[in-house]
Amino acid sequence: MSKILIIEDEESIADLERDYLEISGFSVEIENSGDTGLKRALEEEFDLIILDLMLPKVDGFEICKRIRENKNTPVIMVSAKKDDIDKVRGLGLGADDYMTKPFSPSELVARVKAHLARYERLIGSNVTDNEIIEIRGLKIDKTARRVYLNGEEKIFTTKEFDLLCFLAQNPNHVYTKEELFQNIWDMNSIGDIATVTVHIKKIREKIEMNNAKPQYIETIWGVGYRFKM
Ligand code: CA
Repeated sequence: MSKILIIEDEESIADLERDYLEISGFSVEIENSGDTGLKRALEEEFDLIILDLMLPKVDGFEICKRIRENKNTPVIMVSAKKDDIDKVRGLGLGADDYMTKPFSPSELVARVKAHLARYERLIGSNVTDNEIIEIRGLKIDKTARRVYLNGEEKIFTTKEFDLLCFLAQNPNHVYTKEELFQNIWDMNSIGDIATVTVHIKKIREKIEMNNAKPQYIETIWGVGYRFKM
């Protein structure tokens, strides 16, 4: 549920805005003073802020400026005076929208929805995809450190995951057990190259249909292992 902060000193207006927004499914908080409004806008996470221009203690100009210095939360600025709105626009304080009071609550709700949708698109486009290696039904999500075989998650230990990942990232490359041990286990690890054999066996039990004819990790006799591309 999107969380909206209304900073408005006229309580009846703030309450009306809140009622309409709550009916539309938003969670709404109200601050009636500029100083407390600014504090909450900076310290808490809201999805959108409706900001009145003329406020006691700290005015909307200052609040908008301070919000913009710190975060990208959409701000809809409202004022009873059209002249003030024009002035704010001219100052380029970075509000996302401006409305002159009185406005219809449904107009406010429509604008709130539009800005939230726009902001989500903006944020969404910045989300980086997980780094994924996908080959013949085997999906290795490097970011989440999870492995799926034909859509079904397989549980891997840390070393099993590291080993599979290392091989899959370097396909068609034959690694000796010594090389794998050095790459996956640090020098001080207890164990030896037999550890590699044991881990390969465990990985195969999880991802290979037939260990005699491996689809993913091939044994190169007398040398080591190779991830089949
Ligand atoms: Ca006011």
